[in-house]
Amino acid sequence: MGFESQEERRGQEQPVAVSGSTGVALADGEDSGEGKKIFEVGGKTFVLDCKKAEAVFAAKKVINGIDTMTFNLLPLKYQWAYDLYRNMKANHWEPEDIPMNEDIGQWRSTDQLSDSDRWIIRMGIGYFSAAEGIVGDNIIHVIREIVTAPELKLVLGRHAHEENIHADSLLYMISSLGIDPHECEAMFVDVESIVAKNEFVTRISKDMRRDLDMTLIENIQNLARNMFVFGQCMEGTQFYGLFGMILSLYRQNKFPGIGQMFSYTLRDESNHIELLRQLLMCLGEENPSIWTNEFKESLVELMKEAVELEKRFIDDCLPVEALGLNREDFNQYIDFIADRRLEGVGLAVLNSGVKNPFPWLAEVMDFKKEQNFFEGTVTEYQKTSALKKPLSDSDL
Ligand code: FE
Ligand code: MN
Repeated sequence: MGFESQEERRGQEQPVAVSGSTGVALADGEDSGEGKKIFEVGGKTFVLDCKKAEAVFAAKKVINGIDTMTFNLLPLKYQWAYDLYRNMKANHWEPEDIPMNEDIGQWRSTDQLSDSDRWIIRMGIGYFSAAEGIVGDNIIHVIREIVTAPELKLVLGRHAHEENIHADSLLYMISSLGIDPHECEAMFVDVESIVAKNEFVTRISKDMRRDLDMTLIENIQNLARNMFVFGQCMEGTQFYGLFGMILSLYRQNKFPGIGQMFSYTLRDESNHIELLRQLLMCLGEENPSIWTNEFKESLVELMKEAVELEKRFIDDCLPVEALGLNREDFNQYIDFIADRRLEGVGLAVLNSGVKNPFPWLAEVMDFKKEQNFFEGTVTEYQKTSALKKPLSDSDL
């Protein structure tokens, strides 16, 4: 499979990207005479000189594009990136908006939680405290550094900021529950399955922090591998074991505040997965020579490794089976999620026909439904932020 089915897969809900391939013209704008056209971007209108706009458009690329310090977004070539940025911004949340009193009451009580409930929360806070930082750092220092189109840098900046929000939400959980921060840090070193998961991604990031000749196929493949590992293997698959467990507890009315924060985080992650998926697809479209069978197989192998590491981690999270939390089901769930990620980027699946063992979780995590699921709460946030409009002329 190649990139042909991309438009199809995006379906109705996803904004259609103007393809990066050569020969694609500037998106249609309304002619306003004298060699100028009117373009609508995010509800705003711009009049651009056709010749200049076409030249900039043609020079914009995922990598090795026009080298500019001026962050000129117009004309947009990667419309999907701008639309995604707007969508991410509309879903903004802050940890302190979420009440933690019930969680604190449960944490302090002697009879409301089992040992495994507490352990899952500790593992969740411990793993994500390291992971959120690793993702944000890779976005800023590897991917955003190498890509050249300003609208791609824009959405990647928002991605990194959301990882900061996630990291901050973990501090809020640690302080609310009174967890010893050093105990949490120690988990990055002491829990072998966390160490292994972190090493799996940092090795794909570390070597890319230097000037790379991005005209070399090998380096373009390294970037593509980085996008795949961070987007599809880590955020897309290795986050989902704990997401599933914490949302299972949430469903049993345990940790309502933490559950809500993780549901917001999950919604953000689904945008990050989509961002890195689209970016990888566009990179492949513009550099078709990287997408060899050998390279594709190497990506599937990496996913296989990611899945094995996640299953080991699930074992550590669930040393004993807890209420409604069955290890085998979680392993199957990871197989199911991993295949959806592979399919999403046109790669061969690992476990054809594997079923989602958590139909209720599908309501929360199903790729098409997940945004709808949280609609109620998202709207609340949007209303809150709408109250804090920036000053307009009439306010002055
Ligand atoms: Fe995150
Ligand atoms: Mn993320």
